[in-house]
Amino acid sequence: MAHLQFIEDAQGDVVDQIVFCSDFCHRLHAAGDYNGWNGCNEISVSEPCAECGDPVAGVEDLYRDPFDKQ
Ligand SMILES: [Zn+2]
Repeated sequence: MAHLQFIEDAQGDVVDQIVFCSDFCHRLHAAGDYNGWNGCNEISVSEPCAECGDPVAGVEDLYRDPFDKQ
């Protein structure tokens, strides 16, 4: 499950997100901008953690048959 930091515009609308493998990485990366625990999020496509580079599995990869080599 992904930990996310939401990037908001001046109106407070979420315009982007940063993906982390853990709250630890979220805190390290965000430093003063850390705005609270935001884990257990599903992302659609796997992405590397923005802090440590570990892969964060997206939903499409989580439920893919590991024997299906596409
Ligand atoms: Zn990480």
